[in-house]
Amino acid sequence: MLCIFCQRDSAGSTSVEHIIPESLGNEDHVLPPGVVCDDCNHYFGSKVEGPLLGSDYFRHARCWSATPSKRGRVPGVRALHPASKSLLEMVRDLDGSLHLFPAAGGSEHRWAEYLSGNRHGQLYVPVPVPPDHFLMSRFLAKVALEVLADRMLPLDGGLEFVATDGQLDPVRKFARYGSTQAWPFSRRELYAPETAFSGVDGEPYEVLHEFALLYTGERELHLVCAIYGVEYAINLGGPEIESYKRWLRQHDGRSFLDMLPSAGLTC
Ligand SMILES: [Zn+2]
Repeated sequence: MLCIFCQRDSAGSTSVEHIIPESLGNEDHVLPPGVVCDDCNHYFGSKVEGPLLGSDYFRHARCWSATPSKRGRVPGVRALHPASKSLLEMVRDLDGSLHLFPAAGGSEHRWAEYLSGNRHGQLYVPVPVPPDHFLMSRFLAKVALEVLADRMLPLDGGLEFVATDGQLDPVRKFARYGSTQAWPFSRRELYAPETAFSGVDGEPYEVLHEFALLYTGERELHLVCAIYGVEYAINLGGPEIESYKRWLRQHDGRSFLDMLPSAGLTC
């Protein structure tokens, strides 16, 4: 058995690989041990996913949607309360309730004094910029190869194909070693991150992540995925995204994810 990233023997590996990190709400889409070796699994966790999830952008998205980390914690975000000149930390509970308390280094006294005399006030919360482009493109390249492995897993020789096919070498090397310039990808907002969708049983739920592989008429294979209402697409065949943009224009800008029979669920 070969790892799909470093192509080394991975028969002794014991870690399962989450295609989308657990801290983005994924519990279901997991590759069995050895598809991604323990070394690569650890590398992606500490060098790609860790810094990405720790970015202001993902901290905010996880806070507003109350997505806990695998240790069960929802990250807090900083906010400014000008009337009391306080720097605050906002933390959301899993039940959706919001808590405010002075951030480390902030004045507890000023905040407490303000609260004792006022019931209303304004709070300023910075709008985070999208995460680092290079890191995000490596993350998408990782997800793309793993989604392909997941689809090929049931097929005879499917996994061996993903681990050894030369056409996939650039995307696997970029994801694992980041050795080329940033791989271009498409990014566009589909809906507000906290938008609730109606589930199959009538209960509302939020779509944290959906993904699918799109094989265009130009014979280019793309990963299309949505995370917190933002659609991303990356080309597994090479560092270009124009073919996906042409596909979008041909389809009036509709998302491929909405065209799938089980749209709204991970596909
Ligand atoms: Zn490996």
